[in-house]
Amino acid sequence: MGLTPQATKPGDERATFLPNYMASNLSFDASRTRLASRDFGGLTGAPPHGVLVPSSVHEIANLVRVAYEADAHFRVAAKGHAHSIQGQAQAPGGVVIEMEALKGCLFNVGVLENESCSFSSSYSVERESVERESGGSLYYADVWGGELWIDVLHETLKHGLAPRSWTDYLYLTVGGTLSNAGISGQAFNHGPQISNVYELDVVTGKGELLTCSKHQNSELFHSVLGGLGQFGIITRARIALEPAPQRVRWIRVLYSDFNTFTRDQEHLISLHGRTKFDYVEGFVIVDEGLINNWRSSFFSPRNPIKLQSIVSGSKGTVLYCLEVTKNYDEATADTVDQEVDSLLKTLSFIQGSVFTTDLPYIDFLDRVHKAELKLRAKGLWDVPHPWLNLFIPKSKIADFDAGVFKGILGKKTSGPILIYPMNKNRWDEKTSAVTPDEDVFYLVAFLRSALDNGEETQSLRYLQDQNERILRFCEEANIEMKQYLPHHTKRAQWVQHYGPKWAEFEERKATFDPKNILAPGQRIFSAAQ
Ligand code: FAD
Repeated sequence: MGLTPQATKPGDERATFLPNYMASNLSFDASRTRLASRDFGGLTGAPPHGVLVPSSVHEIANLVRVAYEADAHFRVAAKGHAHSIQGQAQAPGGVVIEMEALKGCLFNVGVLENESCSFSSSYSVERESVERESGGSLYYADVWGGELWIDVLHETLKHGLAPRSWTDYLYLTVGGTLSNAGISGQAFNHGPQISNVYELDVVTGKGELLTCSKHQNSELFHSVLGGLGQFGIITRARIALEPAPQRVRWIRVLYSDFNTFTRDQEHLISLHGRTKFDYVEGFVIVDEGLINNWRSSFFSPRNPIKLQSIVSGSKGTVLYCLEVTKNYDEATADTVDQEVDSLLKTLSFIQGSVFTTDLPYIDFLDRVHKAELKLRAKGLWDVPHPWLNLFIPKSKIADFDAGVFKGILGKKTSGPILIYPMNKNRWDEKTSAVTPDEDVFYLVAFLRSALDNGEETQSLRYLQDQNERILRFCEEANIEMKQYLPHHTKRAQWVQHYGPKWAEFEERKATFDPKNILAPGQRIFSAAQ
């Protein structure tokens, strides 16, 4: 539902639905509303009626309260860095809140006392190890919901600390990733970012500003985490921190056999205690895909000839690259080689395919930004991105390989394809996030860019059709996957997506956003029947 201003002159609309004191920060300027209708996907763009550039958290609460109390209520979307793919942060005809406007307004590091963290009970072993590694203290940072993770990192590093769980790319907001899950190669160990939050401040769909945690307003806390923006706007998050490592040993090894690759990945994520890698990811190299791979530059400087021979020796086949890291600092610099070697010895990758590099922790975490700058320079960043992210249960990952990597994809991928497993017991079942019903599941991410260069296999239509074929294949092969960063257009698809959690999801909506005001761009409660 859109705004229904009674004013007749352009620019007068604000007076019809908002208190005067807020009007100055609400813009109806076409250039602003146009910007608020764009996202990283570049696939959909419906402008809002207005854009709020908030100067305080109370303005956000007031806006939502007005929307809630208005007879003809309007819809409101918090916009983080707009790195969604399918217009999820848009509010067609409503109001978009520019959460980044208040970046830097809040930053506070502290230590939790007599508190437990938000992890599920099966996580207690992990918690003990965090306490041990942190000298018994649970550190946290209080940050603004519209803060970028890169800025959280810079600030926490000043205290020798850093968040424990990451995304691969840091130019995303805290509220944006916590509304999904926030995953990267640390998730097998620390859980997703939503498992690493102690407390939140949230503006609900009724315009109330509430503090919530596992112990206080816990239903709201769990609803909002992974809640796709449906239950409240996160204005503050208390993020779990750990002592920051100084450097990272970053290793890639290659496989031509999928079962060996996944067996090794699963082995690595099953390890406990100190003797494990700190990050486990991987990607698929579908022949020519290697050349277009954002991450391929890693290979070239040091080992160009070796890689060439491995690739040409396996022409026509699919290769799989396992990517792992070991963090270290001055105290552990002497033993890092030994630890890495002992872990690599347990794996069965292609002999001679070890590619190693060593870099500061911050450079490792910010690695995708370097690729972004290169793509921007070539005009290849602001192109349509028909991405598809799936969680595939471990029991079906080999079927997926046979049907998709070795089947549907053909020889061109138009971007990186990530694949890495995670442990379900690191996810808190009480949150709104959904994952497959198995102890181990894989993220498979098709991170494609569509180009208008006359090559059919790189066109938007071709890639979107291929996504549809992949989804159909999963259905026909009975692969009970879940979409990550989901996009569905029908109510029945959402019901299926949430499965046994749907009834609770609906109840939570009725409790915290009964007038269906928040995050309309997700199209959950307005989806076609
Ligand atoms: P937006 O796109 O602005 O918003 C996303 C949703 O969250 C919308 O529904 C919006 O209304 C809602 N929202 C935004 N802010 C708030 C808030 N403060 N409170 C409540 N709701 C809010 N994801 C991963 O997990 N791991 C990755 O490694 C990863 N890498 C990525 C790399 C790139 C280059 C890109 C483009 C995306 C990547 N993502 C990754 C996906 C990303 O986490 C999500 O798209 C996330 O939503 C982006 O954050 P954002 O700040 O841009 O959110």
